Amino acid sequence: MTEKCDTCIVGAGISGLNALFVASRYLSRDQRVILIDRRSRAGGMWVDTYDYVRLHQPHPFFTAGNIEWTLDKEREYLANREEVLDHLRHCLEEIKQRVRVTELFGCEFENAEEIGEKVQITCRSGDGRTVEIEADRLIKAYGQRVDTNAPLNLSSAHARSVSPHFFDVRESEMQNSDAPVWIVGGGKTGIDTAHALINEQPGREVNLIAGPGTLFMSRDRLFPSGVRRWYKGEPLSSVFREMAHRFDGTNETDVMDWFRNNHGISLTPETGNFLGAILSESEKETIATGLNEVVMDYLTDVVDSDGGAEVVLRSGDTLPFELGSWVINCTGYIGRSEHPYEPYVSANGRVLSIQNRSVPIPFPLGGGSAYYLSHLLFLGKLAQVPLYAMDTEEMRRKAPQYVIVAVMSSLHFYNLSLIAEALPGKRFTKMISQYGLDFNRWYPLPRRLRASAGFMLNHKRDRKHYKRALDTVAERFGVRCGPVVNAGY
Ligand SMILES: Cc1cc2nc3c(=O)[nH]c(=O)nc-3n(C[C@H](O)[C@H](O)[C@H](O)COP(=O)(O)OP(=O)(O)OC[C@H]3O[C@@H](n4cnc5c(N)ncnc54)[C@H](O)[C@@H]3O)c2cc1C
Repeated sequence: MTEKCDTCIVGAGISGLNALFVASRYLSRDQRVILIDRRSRAGGMWVDTYDYVRLHQPHPFFTAGNIEWTLDKEREYLANREEVLDHLRHCLEEIKQRVRVTELFGCEFENAEEIGEKVQITCRSGDGRTVEIEADRLIKAYGQRVDTNAPLNLSSAHARSVSPHFFDVRESEMQNSDAPVWIVGGGKTGIDTAHALINEQPGREVNLIAGPGTLFMSRDRLFPSGVRRWYKGEPLSSVFREMAHRFDGTNETDVMDWFRNNHGISLTPETGNFLGAILSESEKETIATGLNEVVMDYLTDVVDSDGGAEVVLRSGDTLPFELGSWVINCTGYIGRSEHPYEPYVSANGRVLSIQNRSVPIPFPLGGGSAYYLSHLLFLGKLAQVPLYAMDTEEMRRKAPQYVIVAVMSSLHFYNLSLIAEALPGKRFTKMISQYGLDFNRWYPLPRRLRASAGFMLNHKRDRKHYKRALDTVAERFGVRCGPVVNAGY
């Protein structure tokens, strides 16, 4: 039997839930959405990420549409995993007040084909049955396709190799041991792990192998607290707009230097990585004081030698390794695996696909594209507006990290400008007002209005500059970064 619905959404993470929120604003109460996810509940990667993860932005800015949190905490509170999952479940329940949602959890999307006015979708349920669905539209909100990480495979039997996904550093096995700890990876997971360990066991020997070092966004500057919201800090959109303004397609080093000096924060002297994570001065201080050693290199292996063991680094250097020490795999998740190319929009505009091979709205990861593009889908404009899309998987392979950040700023504002032009003013304003992922909402209204006015007044003029930067990058690195609609990509 074929299930019928108005819209089918694959993925119940923050991207899928934002798409569902938008769907609920266009569909009526008796229309039906089928929500599919291979995981057992709503929440996406938060369902099975490590236990001590915390949201890195203040919790109100992680939501579907403008659905408010019910958590009784101050605005700056960084929610933990269970709280995030509870909120995402709450979002789903709220949305279900406005539209009929059938949840198919534990169900794998397999393929879809557009036939006439419909999309024919094939899925496999948890018990192996084939489920056929016929929908008017399909939104594939795969997002980042973040998966769990296994422990690192190390040669020495004297290393206790673990992964945050399967081992909580706050629990008794770690607490009852006083062997040194090596955290491998200096990104968000590495920082969360160091922070958790140093808080739980002050004085424990904790070492960090930080690779090229990671640049974080300064929480104190993005989210100044109390009355300082009126005169300190800078709304994130103004920061990224300034980056887009400065970037000409070739000068990413200067652009990132500007960012680092004005809005960045890091634990390490050098920073070759940037993934948009946020860190505060006080977290940095706690971690920097608690760490025994920070190694600016990559771990290759831990090997036995002369009755002992040593850490082998990519540079060829070695470091002494106390037998029985812990090695925690915090090497990251995003952009690790390769996927076949797929444009964000199908030829007839009925299928929207949110994934890393064709990204029009890069901030924040996944959720931004899901929100804005779902609006275009329901307005019948998805296949008309010639948004540029970047193949971020290809870009990561071919270009240095910092180019990606600089080019994402140009891409973001270029496409927002096209969307602003394609929608009637009132519709655009309403869309922006219900966009809960917008960090600008941290600031009082006058400062937010100034940031929006800066964009609205200048975007058509600035767009030419953004386009030149995007075209330059596409040519320089030989990557897909251009219009998808009617472009044959
Ligand atoms: C460790 C870590 C910490 C992070 N912390 C933050 C943070 O603090 N703040 C922040 O804003 N971002 C954070 N991020 C980024 C994070 O990835 C996004 O915030 C967001 O949760 C991603 O949501 P998503 O919906 O795009 O993707 P996901 O959460 O990955 O959801 C996609 C869903 O699609 C489902 N799916 C995919 N393919 C199929 C298929 N074929 N069939 C059925 N289902 C399918 C998956 O099961 C999954 O549930 C973090 C990322 C990581 C890795």
